[in-house]
Amino acid sequence: MARALIAWHERCGRHDLPWQHERTPYRVWVSEIMLQQTQVSTVIPYYERFMQRFPDITALAAAPLDEVLHLWSGLGYYARARNLQRAAQQVCEAHDGRFPQTFESIAALPGVGRSTAGAILALARGERFPILDGNVRRVLARVFEVQGDPSQPATLARLWALSEACTPETHVDVYTQAIMDLGATLCTRRNPACERCPLAPHCGARRTGRQHELPAPKRRRVRALRRTWLLVLRRPDGAVLLERRPERGIWGGLWSPPQFEDAPAAEAWLAARLTAVPALQPLAAIEHAFTHFDLVMTPLLGHCSGYDGAPDPAQFAWYSLAAPDARGLPAPILRFLQGLAAAATQSQLFD
Ligand code: SF4
Repeated sequence: MARALIAWHERCGRHDLPWQHERTPYRVWVSEIMLQQTQVSTVIPYYERFMQRFPDITALAAAPLDEVLHLWSGLGYYARARNLQRAAQQVCEAHDGRFPQTFESIAALPGVGRSTAGAILALARGERFPILDGNVRRVLARVFEVQGDPSQPATLARLWALSEACTPETHVDVYTQAIMDLGATLCTRRNPACERCPLAPHCGARRTGRQHELPAPKRRRVRALRRTWLLVLRRPDGAVLLERRPERGIWGGLWSPPQFEDAPAAEAWLAARLTAVPALQPLAAIEHAFTHFDLVMTPLLGHCSGYDGAPDPAQFAWYSLAAPDARGLPAPILRFLQGLAAAATQSQLFD
């Protein structure tokens, strides 16, 4: 299997991705974190901007979190960015800024699990460690006809054992890249291109025509719907009040208009801070789909006059719509604020 994959990769694999040049552990690590749950084509521009700004682990460790989150804005799953920076700071403190050498110390970094640690060592150093990201799980489940939900411990253990057994003694870096590429380009979730696949002669799912049944789908959870109200408080100079989200929970550490459970809660919050509480105008709701739930946000626009402070500068900031500063904003909030800025220019909302 390794021979077939390596030969295929030489002919058809991807050789020109930005993280394939100068394969240092740091560069591979950042790419592996960005690629979690995210497609290569989406990651490339983010990766290039990130590397330009943070060319090494020391630069990442020293950067303000806001700047890291700003460069991550739009990639989603922001815990990845916070963990990346926390891990960089740990490396600087505990390993003198040098990327750790052993599997155990790499796997102990925040946000790095067994598969990512294996990928870093295999790709950057050619060391023999198996990996099991989503693409590799799919390939192995099909080739070896592994039944069962891959998120369940018994199935997962079987897949790890297969990954370990398939990893060759030599050319581990090429093999690892090859099996990841095969899962991303040929052995895709829908419509696997079996006729072009180098593993077709060995593949159980192809032999039995069960490509679409394997791996078994995860048990579906009922999708929840959550609602929140955004207080969009605008100052006479056009700036809008933003609040830093708590570290835990969705959009942790990012900035958003203050969020409330309902409109009266937003009004009560204002009443505790302003002498003249403005009337709040509901705007069109913003809908956003997370992995396990949908979020509906209703913006409530209010104008405040004579109030130019912010309750706590570490927690709150006035954000200029006309000249926005660089801070981490969730993609739907950024789009909303850009729409607000456009409406302000056309005086649709603020006359
Ligand atoms: S033969 Fe088809 S199902 Fe089997 S590994 Fe190749 S692409 Fe995937």
